[in-house]
Amino acid sequence: MNAIQTQVLVVGAGAAGFSAALAAARNGARTLLVEDHGFLGGLSATMTWIGFHDRDYRQVVQGLGAEFVRRLQEEGAASEYVLDPKCSSIVSVDTHRWKCLAMELAAEARVQLLLHTRVVDTLREGERIRGVVIESKSGRREIHASVTIDASGDGDVAARGGVPWNKGRTGDGLVQSPTLVFRLGGVDRPKFIAGCRDQGLNYREWLRPYPNLWEKMMARIEDTPVIICGGFAPLVQRAHDCGDLHVPQTRVVGVKLHRPDQFLVVMTRVLGLDPTDVDSMTDAYQRVYLQVPELVEFFRRYVPGFADSYLLEIAPMLGVRESRRIVGDYTLTAEDLVQGKRFPDAVAMGGYHMDIHRPAGTWVESRNVQAYTIPFRCLVASGVEGLLMAGKCLSATHESLASTRVIPICMAQGEAAGTAAAMAVERGVSARELPIDDLQSQLVEQGAELGQSLGEPNHEMIERIGQLPLDEPLSSGDRDAVSQAPSAWIQ
Ligand SMILES: Cc1cc2nc3c(=O)[nH]c(=O)nc-3n(C[C@H](O)[C@H](O)[C@H](O)COP(=O)(O)OP(=O)(O)OC[C@H]3O[C@@H](n4cnc5c(N)ncnc54)[C@H](O)[C@@H]3O)c2cc1C
Repeated sequence: MNAIQTQVLVVGAGAAGFSAALAAARNGARTLLVEDHGFLGGLSATMTWIGFHDRDYRQVVQGLGAEFVRRLQEEGAASEYVLDPKCSSIVSVDTHRWKCLAMELAAEARVQLLLHTRVVDTLREGERIRGVVIESKSGRREIHASVTIDASGDGDVAARGGVPWNKGRTGDGLVQSPTLVFRLGGVDRPKFIAGCRDQGLNYREWLRPYPNLWEKMMARIEDTPVIICGGFAPLVQRAHDCGDLHVPQTRVVGVKLHRPDQFLVVMTRVLGLDPTDVDSMTDAYQRVYLQVPELVEFFRRYVPGFADSYLLEIAPMLGVRESRRIVGDYTLTAEDLVQGKRFPDAVAMGGYHMDIHRPAGTWVESRNVQAYTIPFRCLVASGVEGLLMAGKCLSATHESLASTRVIPICMAQGEAAGTAAAMAVERGVSARELPIDDLQSQLVEQGAELGQSLGEPNHEMIERIGQLPLDEPLSSGDRDAVSQAPSAWIQ
């Protein structure tokens, strides 16, 4: 069979890949998006969207991500941006409506789709990535592309093409623990809020050491459409003690969604997963599906407001937080984020804290950051031409990826990669050769935030919502052996 010819090929239709494909097509490139599943959005179609803002409550992600939110809000399918002292902001979206909207946007922009299609090999000639080999029910086929964007989340194109990559933390290579999320319906919101108000239950551990923040949160909780939860440790402990819960999890983690009776549970957990090993992935799926019924029962028996709750939906894919990170021309570090670095070749921004779900222990390691930029060099695969990356594949350390991995920041990276790819095709140059000023101007024209219109900290919101100290590393709970070793930022 003849090879498929395209100008821009995007592998993976998650937040990063979908945004990349849309940006490339809107910029005039013939664009093909290849996706293993039968829907667009990847993990973004299973979660709330966190991190559009920075800790100073300025919107650091605009562009396509903001457009998606606006379109969903106009249809009543997303909450407002809810500002939050730990997560900066959260938007709760109707995930099924998002999948439909993504399909509409792809059609409008004439993005060509190949669904239920997996990339199984990479075509490399010397130092140039020429495309990929795909496998589907129709058989095997080659795709030839001028620029390929690896947004597979696993760096599959890079790995098969001999491009260097890293995986997991220094020490043992373990990645953040994965979670299969699920939604509960039938939640009694007033009773849940009463539980949040109970100081003894400590529903939000970040706030506990800061009574001022706690009071501010309690003052607005009735009117808050989306409530982030990371606590209730005494309830989890009691359930463990009674033999009712065996999940390696010590906190209730989840989000009270904008639909008043719905809650997103983010509590299944597998320790020591290798997302690039099929046996490990199969084992993880087997375990998390066994954890779901136990957790549903735990909520019904232990958590205020959940007595009549029921299982509404299990996400269609395991939430893998981290996998292969492709080595690019620059690797983003934790220090870049803490210092709020402004790179001369900035093509995206972020402001979400570094949020590491411990690979082999429970709870999280966290460190706050300042609004930072992501340089284009982190999107350009090292040592080859013709390969860009975005999303979880970004060239970043284990620690910095723990911030850049959230959905809005993945969308911003995708928009940058797709725009660069289309511009490179139009000019007949490699993406690396693009004048960075031209790329930045184009992104700004599209509405992206690169720092140009960020302005001063939003003092009104800092006063109203409150702010955690920048140097507040949170590392409570049981830390596993490697987490106890000194790392880039864990004190
Ligand atoms: C449990 C959990 C909770 C989270 N909570 C939040 C949250 O509340 N808010 C937030 O903003 N972020 C959250 N995140 C982070 C965020 O969801 C992800 O990091 C982000 O969505 C990653 O986007 P991506 O496009 O890089 O990857 P993905 O969404 O993983 O997309 C990759 C796509 O590539 C496809 N693919 C992979 N390999 C191939 C191949 N070989 N061929 C073809 N297709 C392939 C996959 O099917 C997938 O659709 C959470 C993550 C997890 C795991």
